[in-house]
Amino acid sequence: MSVIKEVFKHNESYTQGFTLGDLPMPPARKLAVVACMDARLTVEEMLGLKTGDAHIIRNAGGIITEDALRSLIISHHLLGTQEFMIINHTDCGMLTFKDEELCAKLRQQTGTATVAPVHFHAFSDVKENVRQQIQKVKLHPWIPKHIPVRGFVYDVKTGRLAEVSV
Ligand SMILES: [Zn+2]
Repeated sequence: MSVIKEVFKHNESYTQGFTLGDLPMPPARKLAVVACMDARLTVEEMLGLKTGDAHIIRNAGGIITEDALRSLIISHHLLGTQEFMIINHTDCGMLTFKDEELCAKLRQQTGTATVAPVHFHAFSDVKENVRQQIQKVKLHPWIPKHIPVRGFVYDVKTGRLAEVSV
């Protein structure tokens, strides 16, 4: 059976006794998290968040891309979140390649260049990457200065979060 078939089937049992139908749209705990998409991170579990508590924005690397900024701006201005958290992690796949090398490989494999993505945002230092992402959020003119923006590295071996000093 394909995995999509399996998970779609699982959803049928998820609906049995479903009780989350009346949650309000704005996140109850007024938190927005940007985290890496790595399959070993279950953001809600590591932070003790429940459905309806927070916005979780995920991509490869937990990068503040244009699209992550779009989501954070909507999260704050339209849905009331008041604190932003960025989560990267140890052993991230983004540490294992370089943008130019991946671009060259894909151009060669497919025989074509593309207009997007312009960057893959690979990095070589997790803490430094977190600091750069914090800066991108803090410097954005549509994100109010009073919003705390804190960054963390999650250890995939221990489950522990460590804050990155700025
Ligand atoms: Zn990662």
